Amino acid sequence: MSQTVSLSRAAPAIAVVGAGIVGATTAYMLARRGAHVTLIDRTEPGRGCSYGNAGALAPASIVPLAMPGILRRVPGMLLDPAGPLRLPLGYVPRAIPWLARFVAASRRDRVEAIAARLAALNAEAIERHTVLAREIGAPELVRTHGHLHVYRDAGALAKDAPAWALRERYGVRCERVERADIESLEPRLGACYRTGVFLPDQAMVVNPFRYVQQIVRAFVVGGGRLVRDEVRAIEPDLARGWSVHTSEGRQTADHLILAAGAQTPLLVGPLGVRLPIESQRGYHVTFPDDAAPVSRIVVLADRKVFVTPLERGFRVAGTVEFGGLLRPPDPRRFALLGRLAREAFPGIATGEERHWMGHRPSTPDSLPLVGPVASRAGLWLATGHGHLGLTGAVSTAHALADAILEGSPALAPAIA
Ligand SMILES: Cc1cc2nc3c(=O)[nH]c(=O)nc-3n(C[C@H](O)[C@H](O)[C@H](O)COP(=O)(O)OP(=O)(O)OC[C@H]3O[C@@H](n4cnc5c(N)ncnc54)[C@H](O)[C@@H]3O)c2cc1C
Repeated sequence: MSQTVSLSRAAPAIAVVGAGIVGATTAYMLARRGAHVTLIDRTEPGRGCSYGNAGALAPASIVPLAMPGILRRVPGMLLDPAGPLRLPLGYVPRAIPWLARFVAASRRDRVEAIAARLAALNAEAIERHTVLAREIGAPELVRTHGHLHVYRDAGALAKDAPAWALRERYGVRCERVERADIESLEPRLGACYRTGVFLPDQAMVVNPFRYVQQIVRAFVVGGGRLVRDEVRAIEPDLARGWSVHTSEGRQTADHLILAAGAQTPLLVGPLGVRLPIESQRGYHVTFPDDAAPVSRIVVLADRKVFVTPLERGFRVAGTVEFGGLLRPPDPRRFALLGRLAREAFPGIATGEERHWMGHRPSTPDSLPLVGPVASRAGLWLATGHGHLGLTGAVSTAHALADAILEGSPALAPAIA
């Protein structure tokens, strides 16, 4: 690994809470550019939401979850436990404020503005991940074989036409494919998928957990400090920036970056800062011992499910469920993902299944909260990346490093 870590005395001390993909990448980037960085997590790095994602590096994903017409989908969300979007009745009262903002974000003019922002944020994501993977000594983790989105028929594809048109307007290369093309790209995909769109410029990470671990290892080798501890409180420090209280004691830093994923609101709540973040619970079933039936990410677009070939085995991941941080996973959703895999790839023999649920830290408008907290000098947010945290982590890291280390004015407050 070629790293230039300058330890000049003028370098700021920075604490980063959360060693998911966002916090790990941010800590690595800051340390690489000369800051004294302490990365704190209560668990092993990468064990949060970043553990089990679908591995897609998808700068083409500029379409927010809240699209015009989202209100019409609410009855289905409430009633269909197997639907791609699920809102259990009992969670409705808790979710109403967030959902109201979610619906407001689905207005046509808002969607255009959000798409433009996401396109700009993630424009360089693949190049930046490729460079990062090389720097940390794991170039094999990033693969650039494109993504294939498949539909059962032209009618199903037509329903997504506004989303595809939006992507094309922002220059995403989208190639319409029919059954013969699908067969040549992914021969094992069942005949029920007859049409689709191939995105040749998208990429993937074949082991999202190892990626985070390797980034943290490079961070430590380069002089960063990793602390495994629970952050219980944060507060402004009269002598120096911010204090971070952990079960082991107190640490201070000139700058404090909160990258605690869906748990970030719990850290700033006591300061009177309210973050519009809700967990969009996503599920995966991983088949670690089975040969992947695909050679690239295949999106079963009718179910919004990703099938990902991994370093070992393959993964079926997706679905969105509201329900907060405390409810246990719904086992029916694991069964659903397993069934979808068997339907999509007839005849696949699968062995052991590993089940996992993670909390996507999600904002109503699908835009991450990255930047300073207004009127709290030295406090920064790096959260709210929702469905795109793996994709967006490197851009977030660059933006924060530019702002903190070089005073780049481009970064507006993440929250008032
Ligand atoms: C099923 C599924 C599929 C997905 N697929 C993709 C995909 O293909 N591509 C993509 O770009 N994104 C995808 N995502 C989204 C992506 O995984 C997330 O956006 C991303 O992992 C969020 O990373 P994070 O670092 O913000 O949060 P996390 O990974 O959750 O990390 C937060 C960390 O903070 C720590 N923490 C929290 N509170 C404290 C505390 N008080 N003290 C100490 N530590 C604390 C936690 O232990 C955790 O390690 C997917 C998500 C899911 C669920």
